[in-house]
Amino acid sequence: MQPYIELVRRYVYRRILIEFGDDELGKLAVAILNTLLSRGEAMTDDKLTSIVGYNAIDVRRILQALYNMRLASVVEEFNEAAGRIEQSWSIKDEDIRRFLVNLIGGVLDKVSVLMQQLTSASVYICPKCFKRYSEDDALMYDYKCPLDKTPLEYINPADYLTVLGAVESRLKKMLESVSRGSV
Ligand SMILES: [Zn+2]
Repeated sequence: MQPYIELVRRYVYRRILIEFGDDELGKLAVAILNTLLSRGEAMTDDKLTSIVGYNAIDVRRILQALYNMRLASVVEEFNEAAGRIEQSWSIKDEDIRRFLVNLIGGVLDKVSVLMQQLTSASVYICPKCFKRYSEDDALMYDYKCPLDKTPLEYINPADYLTVLGAVESRLKKMLESVSRGSV
């Protein structure tokens, strides 16, 4: 899993940063991810809080966010000694694997849609706003973007298909190696 863990770390950091607008929470999320993975055992949020040395409220918010991303799993158990229900959190290799398979699969779907669009029709693109237009549209707009009047550029499908084909095969190899678990 090692070569791909870094990808998951970057993803988690970005998602948390966007969701909470706080760089510290992004770092906290990565610390929680690292801790749960390296310990390889389920942990209560109290234990996690003491390990990562952060406040309990934020640790719980991040755990919930990791759960919503379908990265972290949670089990509820009654703790006799404490006399209350406790939640134990974990992130297993299989959680990382499933997460990566979904992530890569989603991008592969988009790449294949893009490739289909490029093969099925000629495409014009506005170099300013990057909106795409078909041959018919471009003709009617006099080969200028109707939004900003920028002259449209013709995309040579062959150029882009080569690039996208390379991206696609790289992603497929990744998907294969992630699914095999030899990571
Ligand atoms: Zn435009």
